[in-house]
Amino acid sequence: MIDLRSDTVTKPNEPMRKAMYNSEVGDDVYGEDPTVNKLQDMVSEITGMEDSLLVASGTMGNLVSLLTLTNRGEEIILGNKCHVYAWEGSGVSIYGGISMKIINNNNDGSFDLRELSNSINPLDDHKPKTSTISIENTHNQCGGSPLKIEFINSVKEIAEKNNLNIHMDGARLFNASIAQRLSVENIVKNVDSVTFCLSKGLSCPIGSIISGSKEFIIEARRWRKSIGGGMRQAGVIAAAGIYALENLVDRIEEDHVNARTLANGFSKIPEIIIDPEYVKTNILRFELSNKINLIEFSTELEKEGIFFNSSYGSIRMVTHYGITSKDINNVIEKTSKVIKSLLQ
Ligand SMILES: *Cc1c(COP(=O)(O)O)cnc(C)c1O
Repeated sequence: MIDLRSDTVTKPNEPMRKAMYNSEVGDDVYGEDPTVNKLQDMVSEITGMEDSLLVASGTMGNLVSLLTLTNRGEEIILGNKCHVYAWEGSGVSIYGGISMKIINNNNDGSFDLRELSNSINPLDDHKPKTSTISIENTHNQCGGSPLKIEFINSVKEIAEKNNLNIHMDGARLFNASIAQRLSVENIVKNVDSVTFCLSKGLSCPIGSIISGSKEFIIEARRWRKSIGGGMRQAGVIAAAGIYALENLVDRIEEDHVNARTLANGFSKIPEIIIDPEYVKTNILRFELSNKINLIEFSTELEKEGIFFNSSYGSIRMVTHYGITSKDINNVIEKTSKVIKSLLQ
């Protein structure tokens, strides 16, 4: 089976499991788990922020961050294709009484800066107070695009002028860092909070981390507890994170090379609509011409042992730890075969 549905399907390898087995633990709600504390300190070092907090998932990381930055009755501005809006069950509205104002995402995950400026509410009794801008890096639904640093800087200028916070959903932050040859610290220097997933390209079984100022993390801890995210001997999870940060970051480059090879191969197959130049990290998004039925295509590839996700008519394939260059060649070959057979 070649599972390209997501990088969340990655499993902990042998040394990661050993690190988990051997982890020293304590009660993290009391702040007494030495492995969790070590991971959080390590992440603060990497992000250049004052403090960090382990949470159960990326969704929880975004929720806790946005609840911390935004008061009840206020609004956040975010892109129409972003994960917080499209794939997180409206948690910020449910638990925070926060409204989401949606502006259009460009293909590269950015948005139009004029549209951003114009969408900020003036102080007016009729209107919710705009408090926070949320950006996503890399941008999942925008083909895994890493946000340009110039874009982040411009968002910061607008945020500063209007007294707004910025949250970065960096579920795949290390993919952005590797693809752009920029340090994580550099990428997040203009945001107030960032969250990234340990459970995706970093191959851990569970966990995400939030980073921000000392004050921010104190508040974030309160929110984490109130939504049921206070974990006890979480060092077992944190040990996997420490192992990943020490050993599995640089190899992400391999996933990017594989994704690009796959895109190049697909670009030569008729009826696949893809621009390989657009593939900058480990996510490929493409469409099929109207001669090919998506459901039939998917069924036939599954018979060949190849799995992927699709939404809104576009197909997503994600490369990750465990997917080899041989697998990639195999996928190109089988896809070509399936397309040929469906055209007959
Ligand atoms: C996966 C993902 C999340 C959520 O992470 P979970 O751990 O699945 O909750 C958030 N944002 C983006 C961009 C993601 O791709």
